[in-house]
Amino acid sequence: MNFVFTPPATVSVPVAGSTERFPVHRIYCVGRNYEDHAKEMGFTGREPPFFFMKPADAIVAVEAGGIGSMPYPSLTKNLHHEIELVVAIGTGGKNILAADAHKHIYGYAVGLDMTRRDLQNEMKKQGRPWCIGKAFDHSAPIGPITPTALAGDVTNAEIYLQVGGQDRQRSNLSKLIWNIGETIEHLSAAWKLQPGDLIYTGTPEGVAAVVTGDTLVGGVTGLGTLTVKII
Ligand code: MN
Repeated sequence: MNFVFTPPATVSVPVAGSTERFPVHRIYCVGRNYEDHAKEMGFTGREPPFFFMKPADAIVAVEAGGIGSMPYPSLTKNLHHEIELVVAIGTGGKNILAADAHKHIYGYAVGLDMTRRDLQNEMKKQGRPWCIGKAFDHSAPIGPITPTALAGDVTNAEIYLQVGGQDRQRSNLSKLIWNIGETIEHLSAAWKLQPGDLIYTGTPEGVAAVVTGDTLVGGVTGLGTLTVKII
């Protein structure tokens, strides 16, 4: 087939303990999925799940033991970190029941839903889409994907983020308002999930600003750490 220009390369994420890579299809994100984060954003934490998306090429894939680089984005004066468990879909499907969701999961990773908070807040106030606050270039750093069989029990794992060695966020995946199965059930009712889809499952409380030169180290027990420097 002849294209009018060279098609973009497939975005991919390393797989822990393997030379194979996980090709990325779509990036779905869950909003306000921890009660204490919903409250810090001015909500009750009792609402149904809702979703937004980032483009696949917003991924900043960081190798195991590596340090990723994220350029400080344009237009913002308030770039926030949101540490999140990322679910990687290996088998697609529509209308997946929560009880069957595990059959569709390839693995898990540690991710950052980086956010231009000032722009997101302005869009919220005006009732406009969040894209400019959430779906910008380099907004989705992610570490290697650990296949489910090697990941241990992520449903009761600690999740944390440190900036400059100081704790910013620390919680537990057991505090997700909508757990992984319920999230996949809701999401797959709205979109047909495909192999290669990533789901950023939401962030716990403690979101705050980072500046150029900061080093972010995040982790989920059993999934290793993700290190990203803001340049
Ligand atoms: Mn988020």
